[in-house]
Amino acid sequence: MLTKTSYSCEICGKTFKDAAKCEQHEKDHPQPYAVKPLKVTAGKIYPDNLHVSFRDGDGRESVARYAFREIVQIDAQGEG
Ligand SMILES: [Zn+2]
Repeated sequence: MLTKTSYSCEICGKTFKDAAKCEQHEKDHPQPYAVKPLKVTAGKIYPDNLHVSFRDGDGRESVARYAFREIVQIDAQGEG
């Protein structure tokens, strides 16, 4: 019987034979640190788009634009 060891990225699940390559891969996943709302369509309450600033484990920064799709949770405790 052969025993094989593999390593899985905790963020996306990609598997690696080499632990160091898996660790570097995990560091390459950018993490969000700031969100900037963009235009809001007249009559709507949520912005149509967001700019999200990311930084990876090596300090590289990027900004991605995300488009509004749907509300997935509303906390009713904040109302009233
Ligand atoms: Zn990954």
